[in-house]
Amino acid sequence: MKYFKDSKDGKKICLLCSYYCDLKENQIGICGVNKHIENKVECLVYGYISAFNIDPIEKKPLYHFLPTSKSLSLGTVGCNFHCTFCQNHGISQEKKIDKSNYISPKRVVEIAREKKCASISYTYNEPTIFYPYAKDIALEAKKYGIKSVFVSNGFESSEVIDDMKGIIDAINVDLKSFSQKYYKKSLGGNLNQVLDNLIHLQKNGIWIEITTLIVPTKNDSAEELTKIVQWIKENLGVNVPWHISAFHPDYKDMDIPRTSFSSLKLAYDIAKKEGLNYVYIGNIGYENSTICVNCGTNLISREYFNVKSYELNNSFCKNCGIKIDGIF
Ligand code: SF4
Repeated sequence: MKYFKDSKDGKKICLLCSYYCDLKENQIGICGVNKHIENKVECLVYGYISAFNIDPIEKKPLYHFLPTSKSLSLGTVGCNFHCTFCQNHGISQEKKIDKSNYISPKRVVEIAREKKCASISYTYNEPTIFYPYAKDIALEAKKYGIKSVFVSNGFESSEVIDDMKGIIDAINVDLKSFSQKYYKKSLGGNLNQVLDNLIHLQKNGIWIEITTLIVPTKNDSAEELTKIVQWIKENLGVNVPWHISAFHPDYKDMDIPRTSFSSLKLAYDIAKKEGLNYVYIGNIGYENSTICVNCGTNLISREYFNVKSYELNNSFCKNCGIKIDGIF
C-alpha cells in the first residue's frame, strides 16, 4: 500500500490511521512520529524501538492464539491516542526519538528466531503509527513461519486494515468504552470508527480478541458494559474472547481508585448472561480457564500468564472433539 497520498496545496495525507492527517511540508501528525518531509510522509520511528521484551503471548493478552508460546514484543515512541490513564505514557506520549540504535526488520526477526519466539507483537504504543516498520518485520518473519500480532486501539485506517490481511495474524483491540463522548474527551479517535474497524479486521481473517479496561466511574456502569457485550455478540459473535482488565491509577488519572474485584465480576457476569463464551478477567491474578462450550472440560487452565494444563488437540477439545475458535 501507499502510506500517504497527495492533497491540496502541496500537502500530503497520511494514510496510516483514521485521523488522515493532512500535513503541510515539515508538519508532524497527531501521533508525533509521522512527518511530511520532501514530498512524502516519513515514519520517523522506523527502526527505533523504545521497548523490547520477550513475553508469554498470554500477556498481550491473547488466550486463543498459540497458547504457551513466546512473543517478541516491541514498540516505538508516539501514539495517536492520548488516554488519560495510559500505563505506557512514558513511551506513548514521548515525542523524542532516540536514534542511537537502529534495528532493522531483519535483525528483529533474527532475535525472534534466536529466542525461539513463535510470534512478534507490535505493542506498548499504537502499532498502526509505525505500520511501515511493523509490516517489513512481519513480511521478513513470515519467511520463517513466525506470526505477527498487533495490540491496538483499533483506530487503523481502512487502507492499513486491508493491507494487514495475510500479514498480521492476530490483534487484540482495546474497546475502551461505549461512549462517544469519553473517546473524544479522554482517549482520542472515535467509538464508531473503532467499531467499524473491528468488523473490518474480522472480515479480513485476522484473529481478534478484545480488551476493555474497566475504569471506575468512567465505563463501569452495568448499562455501558451491557452495550459493549451486546455489540460484540451481535457484530463479531459469541466466540470472540473478551478480556476485562483492572485499572490502576496512572498518568493523569491518579485520583481514580483501582478497579474492585466486584466491578470486574459484574462485567464478567453480564458477559456470561448475554452469552459470550470466552470471558477473562485480567490484571488481578485471577485464574482464567478456557472451558469447552460443549462438554464443560477445562481446556486451558491459567494462573497469571502461565498455562497450568492444556487439554486441546490442535484446535479440538480432547474430550468431545468440538472445535474451539482461535489459532492453536
Ligand atoms: S498515523 Fe494517524 S495521527 Fe499519525 S500522522 Fe498518520 S494519520 Fe496522523
